[in-house]
Amino acid sequence: MSSIDILSLIRQVPNYPKEGILFYDITTALENPEGLRAIMKGFIDQYRDQKIDKVIGTEARGFIFAPTLAYELGAGFVPVRKPNKLPSVTIGVNYALEYGTDRLEIHADAIKPGERVLIVDDLLATGGTAHAVTQLVTQLGGETIGFAFLLELDGLGGRDKLAGFDIFSMMTVP
Ligand code: AMP
Repeated sequence: MSSIDILSLIRQVPNYPKEGILFYDITTALENPEGLRAIMKGFIDQYRDQKIDKVIGTEARGFIFAPTLAYELGAGFVPVRKPNKLPSVTIGVNYALEYGTDRLEIHADAIKPGERVLIVDDLLATGGTAHAVTQLVTQLGGETIGFAFLLELDGLGGRDKLAGFDIFSMMTVP
């Protein structure tokens, strides 16, 4: 299945969660067996043999891809979560949204100094979320070796925000 076919499986929902946003609903691609297989194969083929120690999935849709990818790469899976969800000692980072701020947290012992870390999410828009996650990795002494996204929205500054990092997007939409 080519990437254009995967894109056609993603439902586009206008004005969700608010007026003016075109929401890319990946659940319709995931529920399609060929779609799910093509997506996971795309990620796995990209990162095979890269000696990745940990794959981070960002809450919530990063959780869908990161554990299977970690399993296939022989790496560990680490969740980055919204505030007050992780039960042990955490570190956190606040980051700016269009209106207001948000916060992400990681267990303080989840990444060891020197570990090679891949950060996975469903979609790259402004890059604010992904940038916040790499700050957590850096604080714990890990090395972000790259970012993996199913979908990249072009023209929202995500690539600039993550300048200097390796970025893999399976598909890009204007
Ligand atoms: P950003 O931090 O601006 O790069 O936004 C990326 C995060 O917001 C990801 O976790 C996405 O799941 C979510 N997101 C942003 N825009 C959209 C959109 N148009 N459709 C679906 N998810 C989105």
